[in-house]
Amino acid sequence: MTFDLADRVQTVPPSGIRRFFEIAEERDEVISLGVGEPDFSTPWAARDAAITSLEQGKTSYTANRGRKDLRVAIANYVTDRFDLGYDPDEEIIVTAGASEAVDLAFRAFVDPGETVAIAQPSYISYEPGVIFAGGEPLAVPTREEDEFRLTVSALERAGASEADMLVLCYPNNPTGAIMTEADLEPVAEFAREHDLTVLADEIYAELTYEGEHTSIATLPGMRERTIVFNGFSKAHAMTGLRLGYALGPADAIAAMNKIHQYTMLSAPTTAQYAALEALSSCGSDVREMVDQYDRRRRFVLSRFREIGMDVFEAKGAFYCFPEVPAGLTAEEFAEGVLREQGVAVVPGDVFGAGGEGHLRVSYATGLSDLREALTRIEAFVDERT
Ligand code: PLP
Repeated sequence: MTFDLADRVQTVPPSGIRRFFEIAEERDEVISLGVGEPDFSTPWAARDAAITSLEQGKTSYTANRGRKDLRVAIANYVTDRFDLGYDPDEEIIVTAGASEAVDLAFRAFVDPGETVAIAQPSYISYEPGVIFAGGEPLAVPTREEDEFRLTVSALERAGASEADMLVLCYPNNPTGAIMTEADLEPVAEFAREHDLTVLADEIYAELTYEGEHTSIATLPGMRERTIVFNGFSKAHAMTGLRLGYALGPADAIAAMNKIHQYTMLSAPTTAQYAALEALSSCGSDVREMVDQYDRRRRFVLSRFREIGMDVFEAKGAFYCFPEVPAGLTAEEFAEGVLREQGVAVVPGDVFGAGGEGHLRVSYATGLSDLREALTRIEAFVDERT
């Protein structure tokens, strides 16, 4: 007898990334450029704060929305760094990773059958999240010729004017694309004109290597229709501590909190102490990590060009998105380079429309491994050209 699963769960395919990890596990000495996870340890001061909180027995639930001192610290941080003003009492919710915040937003705002436009290629959780919430995802492919920025013509081509909501993520996973204020303005105008709610996943905001990150919520008329997601996994190297947050208008955050309080109660308490310390004293650790990512980014881009693979100038997150040489699909390239050379990368199709013919290469890996991995990729490409 098979278990009686819900249709909306059955319709979502398993994650396309997993298969590559399974092949990687069969082989020795694999260098993984596959995962979207910092190779750095969490800054020591943040770990120490977590340890101290445990020593002091601070292991109870917190307020549903997260500790007040942490929400105040988040409010100050997003004001200083991104010019975003949110009231810590009513407009911020602390969650178990940005992932929980994104899921809460889909469940709080999507009615059955509503359409959610998703700028793609994108982080793999948005489409399933929409489906689990009963909504209909609508892919909005972005293009390499637009440097994978979201444009109004991409929105129009996909029919996004009929959607109820728009999800965008810049700096982008998987492409490394960023969008400047000038790039965001027409998208904001489109959202206002077609009355779209905007979900802006800005978890890579600190990892912006050219200019400063601009949040779409800072553009005129956007604050009232936008939820911004951020967290500690990427910039503060805290993936396993599971801490993120959402910023938005009070009624929207209250609706998300209603689901959160019945399903999660509160985000992990130990992680909240770590995050508070991360915001108060780990700015220089973040800057040091960002500097190192930037050095790696320039190295990886220049090596791909030397190898003869086209690669667009990624300016954010810790990914680049080279094109697969003619004659191979992305899947064939990724599987071949893993089996023959022991380098794990992810085929771009996994990230949705617009990702075909590309590879996601993460440089959240030390320079010596990156050097070796690029040498192996070069050998793989040379054998085929
Ligand atoms: N959003 C994006 C764009 C991501 O790439 C990831 C993780 O890879 C997440 C959210 C998940 O973040 P968290 O660890 O805070 O749940």
